[in-house]
Amino acid sequence: MPAERSKAERKEDRRVAGMGSFLSNLAKSRSTEKSVAKALFPFRDETDPRIVYKLSERARRISLKVNTSDREVSVVVPGVKALPKARKFARQQRDWINVQLESLPPPQPFEAGGHILIRGELYQLVSPPGRGRPKVDHERRVVNVPSPDAESFPGRVRRFLIREAREELTAASHFYAEKLGKRIGKISVRDTSSRWGSCVTRKGEGHISYSWRLISAPPFVLDYVAAHECAHMVEDNHSAAFWSVCESINDDVKRASKWLRKNGAFLHAVGAEW
Ligand SMILES: [Zn+2]
Repeated sequence: MPAERSKAERKEDRRVAGMGSFLSNLAKSRSTEKSVAKALFPFRDETDPRIVYKLSERARRISLKVNTSDREVSVVVPGVKALPKARKFARQQRDWINVQLESLPPPQPFEAGGHILIRGELYQLVSPPGRGRPKVDHERRVVNVPSPDAESFPGRVRRFLIREAREELTAASHFYAEKLGKRIGKISVRDTSSRWGSCVTRKGEGHISYSWRLISAPPFVLDYVAAHECAHMVEDNHSAAFWSVCESINDDVKRASKWLRKNGAFLHAVGAEW
């Protein structure tokens, strides 16, 4: 009669058995097919382009996430196999999705005759025919954006705002960096979806990336974000020490953070078509 196996031996048996089934499952799954399926993600729902399916190997269940910056809803799919279920779930939640997306601030597409916010002030968009650089008439609160046709108009307005944002954010960054005795490396201005700014320090220089949408906010908000990113050159975290550096160079930390929390979704609606 064989002696009873020790606890350790039984544990080892289970491990080997587990490995075996793992390996045989691996052999069974047509892995190329699986990787082809994976490469399809992320993709939009054919019937509702506001819905995007995103694959997450780490997720444990299907979930929905409202993305206010892109004005869409992500369906988190935990593994390729869960896709049919995820589609069904998204269909069932259609009413909820509609309520979420309709409660976002209304889209503010760039169109001739419409309005845009520059430094927190309302300006009217005018589209004279032709080419050339946009001109701002501060007295009449009008921005003239020459455009040879209607299709290229939104893109031109957007590029104008990005240029304005870059100018302001560059000046503000140098101003705050100097206060801290730090040097700025590269500044990029993009359409960052989740954050207003980010900063990495390399070889003693701060490389900062900003959202162009800050140009639509009141100046104290743009200034605060620049101060915040520059403060990260001193404290690369959000500790109490970081906030005191931030407050030592900018007086509007609380007011501006509050403004962004309240109006962030509104900034993301600027230029949105739907
Ligand atoms: Zn930060």
